[in-house]
Amino acid sequence: MISSVMPTYARPDIEMVRGDGAYLFDSKGRKYLDFIAGIAVNAFGHGHPHLVEALKRQAETLWHTSNLYRIPGQEKVAERLKAATFADTMFFTNSGTEAVECALKACRRYHYVNGQPEKYGFIAFDNAFHGRSMGAISASSQKKLREGFEPLLPGFKFAPFNDLAATEALIDEHTGGIIVEPIQGEGGIAMATPAFMNGLKVLCDKHGLLLILDEIQCGMGRTGKLFAYEHYDIKPDIMTVAKGIGGGFPLGACLTTEAVGVTMSAGTHGSTYGGNPLGMAVADAVLDLMLEPGFLDQVTATGERLAQALGQMIPNHDDVFAAAPVRGIGLMRGLQLKVPNRDFVGHARGEGILAAAAGSDVIRLMPPLNIGQAHIDEAVERLSAAARSFPRGS
Ligand SMILES: *Cc1c(COP(=O)(O)O)cnc(C)c1O
Repeated sequence: MISSVMPTYARPDIEMVRGDGAYLFDSKGRKYLDFIAGIAVNAFGHGHPHLVEALKRQAETLWHTSNLYRIPGQEKVAERLKAATFADTMFFTNSGTEAVECALKACRRYHYVNGQPEKYGFIAFDNAFHGRSMGAISASSQKKLREGFEPLLPGFKFAPFNDLAATEALIDEHTGGIIVEPIQGEGGIAMATPAFMNGLKVLCDKHGLLLILDEIQCGMGRTGKLFAYEHYDIKPDIMTVAKGIGGGFPLGACLTTEAVGVTMSAGTHGSTYGGNPLGMAVADAVLDLMLEPGFLDQVTATGERLAQALGQMIPNHDDVFAAAPVRGIGLMRGLQLKVPNRDFVGHARGEGILAAAAGSDVIRLMPPLNIGQAHIDEAVERLSAAARSFPRGS
């Protein structure tokens, strides 16, 4: 008989019931070091007092009004993000997928309003992940995301990630935008090379295309910059944000330039819940912590120490971990495995550390951004223990 919760996840039989900082506790009292943080969501771990206080205060004041009226929290957070990024304006959503949906709509709308409705097409990349709506899965070439849901939106073409020549070869009179993750998260912690990312911007300028960056996973401080595009010499036209922005409260945003934003005039888009007062109060508190002077530099330093410690661990377990370098940047890290990644994630959980699989052979480590040296030491100890006890052969 089917479970009352739709069986879209093949989950282990574990219930998490409490969180405290970088730790989660299950219903049997077992403690886990949380190095996945709700998939790069709990940027300040579990139960951070500043975020808890912000949510409590807002809960006692006002939960929801819909977007029929001005929401002061939206304006405050938008001003702060505007000051800190390329963006002139933004639309708040409840999730990453909705931010992507808004981005795709804004790109089409921009070309439509500017007299080029034929530029409805997008170029996206192999192994990309942009979410689960019909629009978002249209922007992925992965069979496991698309199978059974076609026909999807017309106009999407796919190039290999980091292949600029292949990307340029796909551009035609229908191309309107290029959508790309600066660092592919679900795809296996693969970074866009500077030549690729900077080259995409050149292609966009040359052909009148919009550059859409999906920073839902790699943004909000994860890489040691507020947004990953700051590692390159470019600015996007549109950028999607979610995950870390709410620190665990469902929230996303689609940020754009003025030229794009003005085409999304009254009535073109909307959301009942998007950017509601609860979410905005938490996002404002997240920004308080993230924009504190020195915080992002500390993420960079912590990330480098983690990568170094992982790098030292790899050769001690060379039948489990591939000799490849530690992937990623900041606190968005990946290890390539020689054993099945999903099996290893399950086994590591038994050793008290939470990670997630990515791509075909990578495990992702994306801890809260405010972890310390003791957490790094403990993570390496637990991963080493998991590697030692991982069942060999069959
Ligand atoms: C998680 C993710 C999404 C989808 O976000 P949801 O909040 O799950 O809808 C989209 N793009 C990227 C890069 C992501 O990591």
